[in-house]
Amino acid sequence: MTRGSAHTADLSGRVALVTGAGSGIGRACAVALAEAGATVHVVDRDGDRAAEVAGAVAGWAHVVDLADPGAVDALPAEVDVLVNNAGLQHVAPLHEFPPERFAHLHQVMVTAPFLLMRRCLPHMYARRWGRLVNISSVHGLRASPFKAAYVSAKHALEGLSKVAALEGAAHGVTSNCVNPGYVRTPLVEGQVAAQAEAHGIAPEGVLDAVFLQRTAVKRLVEPEEVATIVRWLCGDAASSVTGASLPVDGGWTAA
Ligand code: NAD
Repeated sequence: MTRGSAHTADLSGRVALVTGAGSGIGRACAVALAEAGATVHVVDRDGDRAAEVAGAVAGWAHVVDLADPGAVDALPAEVDVLVNNAGLQHVAPLHEFPPERFAHLHQVMVTAPFLLMRRCLPHMYARRWGRLVNISSVHGLRASPFKAAYVSAKHALEGLSKVAALEGAAHGVTSNCVNPGYVRTPLVEGQVAAQAEAHGIAPEGVLDAVFLQRTAVKRLVEPEEVATIVRWLCGDAASSVTGASLPVDGGWTAA
């Protein structure tokens, strides 16, 4: 039986886990999934933000640092919807890129999603239903200068998502990436100074010269626009959508 309409997902009785749910896109996903009826585990390294969002969605807060591989063992395994969202940026030329930052970004944005899939898939397979949604980026499909760790991590996440799609299909589990362009979140707001320095421009020029330079739609994406796609992917109407990468990028990848 199909639950929900063609446009919305009915996730009542489902359990979702969203990483990096204390802020930005992750917060919007937690809200959207809770509105669809899911019980939401809010995972973030920032305890105050995790508690605030868990309160807002009547869910559960988990304060963990996903850079620690052992931290995943403390998270619930009985999860029907896993949203791998936690991420961070570091902007620097490749020849000066700190190796420990490179490893840290890969740990949070590739290894932690792998460990969480590995942890949650047995439950999804047992119930013959599951949704893996990986918040990739336009940088999972395209490169930009000064983002060696981020671009390579997001490209790796794309590959991981496709493997999960192929393995999960026989078990009723889909796996997809969502690929936003620049979204109005603290992650982007925090890049302005580093982008200005790396590109040799004034901070006031970063929005037009860097963030919006390659998009046809000349505005930042809102977190709720990304969450709407995530929620749709979790519905039964999207059960044939798997192994896909869905740009929410204002036309960046069309050019
Ligand atoms: P954000 O900075 O607003 O939120 C990220 C959250 O992840 C924060 O609450 C932070 O505490 C948490 N987090 C970071 N490292 C963590 C760790 N080690 N352990 C646990 N939690 C951790 O960022 P956002 O813009 O909402 O980004 C969310 C995701 O969307 C990221 O994967 C990012 O790469 C992706 N994305 C963002 C944009 C954008 O323009 N904002 C564009 C494309 C993709």
